[in-house]
Formats: sequence, C-alpha cells, structure tokens
Amino acid sequence: MTAPMIRQLSDLRAQVASWKAAGETIGLVPTMGALHQGHLSLVAAAKAACDRVIVTIFVNPRQFNSAEDLANYPKTEEQDAQKLKPFNVDALYVPDGDQIYPEGFSTTVSVGGVVDVLCGAARPGHFDGVATVVTKLFLQSQADQAFFGEKDFQQVQVVTRLARDLDIPIKVVPCPTIREEDGLAMSSRNLLLSDRARVYAPELNRAMEDVAESVLAGNDMAQARAAALARLERAGFTKVDYFELRASDDLRLLQRPDVPARLFVAAWLAGVRLIDNIAVG
Ligand code: AMP
Repeated sequence: MTAPMIRQLSDLRAQVASWKAAGETIGLVPTMGALHQGHLSLVAAAKAACDRVIVTIFVNPRQFNSAEDLANYPKTEEQDAQKLKPFNVDALYVPDGDQIYPEGFSTTVSVGGVVDVLCGAARPGHFDGVATVVTKLFLQSQADQAFFGEKDFQQVQVVTRLARDLDIPIKVVPCPTIREEDGLAMSSRNLLLSDRARVYAPELNRAMEDVAESVLAGNDMAQARAAALARLERAGFTKVDYFELRASDDLRLLQRPDVPARLFVAAWLAGVRLIDNIAVG
C-alpha cells in the first residue's frame, strides 16, 4: 500500500491524535530521502516495535555546510514512496519547508560535549541543524520510539542526549549499519559517486577493518592509521577529515581499544564526503 503522504503539520497532528486516542504506539523514522536498504532496515525495525510508523523525508537545509552540497543532495521522492510500499507504513510525512521553519523561526537546539569532535568539528553547525530538526520531528510526531542508524553513530549520541536533556518522552533506538556486498556503508551520497569512484569507495571500510584488526592485535594506532591513510591516498581519496579511535560511550579519543571502542572515518573521494564507523572488538 502506498503510504498516505502528509505535508502539513495540522494533518500530522490530527492523525497522531487519533492513534493516541486508540492507545496505539508510534514509531518515527526520520530521513532525508533517497531511500536505500539502510533506511528500510530502520522502517522494518519500527514496524516490528510499534503499532504505527511515520517515515519522514525532509532535506534539512540547516544541517548542510554549503549551498552546493544542499543543491546536489539527491531527491527521489516518487521512488522513495515506491520503496516504502511493501512496508505498509502508516504515514509518509514530507513537510513543506514552512512546517519546520516558519517565518521568524529563531530557535536552535545545541547539544554540548559529543558535538565537539568528528563531524561536529569538521562541519561547524551541522549538529545544531540536526538537533533542531530532530527535536521538532520528535515533538511534531509525539512518537514513542525513534529509529536511527549507527552509520551516523555521533548523530545517535546527539539525539539520545537531546531527548534525555529536554525530557522528551521518546526512546531512541540505534540500528546497525547496512552495507553493500563489498563493504561500502549504504548512503544516499553513494549516488553521487562516479562509476570509477564507486569501485574504490569500499577501500574506506577495508582500511578501517585492517586498522581494527591491527590495534586489536596490540599494534600502535598511529602506525596503523598512517598505513590506512596511505592506502586511502592510493585509492584516490583526496582528503581525510578524521580517522580516529574513540570510546563508544563518550567519544573520547583513544590510543588503544582498552574500553568499548569504535573507529570513525570521514574522507573525500571524487568530491563526495563519505563517513563510516565500526566497532573494534
Ligand atoms: P539520512 O537520510 O542520511 O539522513 O539518514 C536517515 C537515517 O537512516 C539516519 O538515522 C541514518 O543513520 C540512517 N542510515 C543511513 N544509512 C544507513 C545505513 N547504511 N545503515 C543503517 N542506517 C542508515
């Protein structure tokens, strides 16, 4: 069934009110569209956990650092609706811009601490944009649970903290990263890769897997990292924003995985910024 498309907040509120009155639980899957299996895995998790599922598609201008990046972001609304068909979601909320940022909108939600590193440092203002739109979507949908991908691990930390700090009664559910067969993490941005760049893109994940194995074997992170950076350069990556080992709980920088740890990487290939992260151990 094609999901009923909702563009106005008043219509969303009316729908949500009727579900709440019937005592039904609501799951929320926020996306920026150009849906792939990673997004659909969140939808499946939401369907399994909640009576009603709302998928949102909103390309949030406030979380982009450049107008060009925003303009190039893939938009595939019709195909997205088709991909959602088998899941029988209860609403596809594609808000008009003024339903999120009405004229005079002047509030920013800013989470401290975890935003100072990784993508927060590389993309100033990015997580303020994310936190602001996610807060709005949490409050607009009044969902009981919201599903986010660990592909954006730092984002999961940011939205978990904002829900806790602002007493928003919603459970943030992290879901595992879905990958292509060659290991490349699925991402809407993969659509922007040239055929040639697509061939080399999985090197990012392979480099991380090698570093994980190396540091688990007791080798020095700095050396493993240097080898990985050289490998990425050979594969055609032009810039690495970060390639770091960090604690899974608070993202503090580590030299060795002596607590639960993850490797985080962001790197540019043929003008496209790819990010990935994996658990170490
Ligand atoms: P986006 O449309 O890129 O903003 O992503 C929307 C949601 O899908 C976020 O919670 C992402 O973390 C999640 N997501 C994106 N790619 C993947 C993936 N490969 N596996 C699992 N979740 C993903």
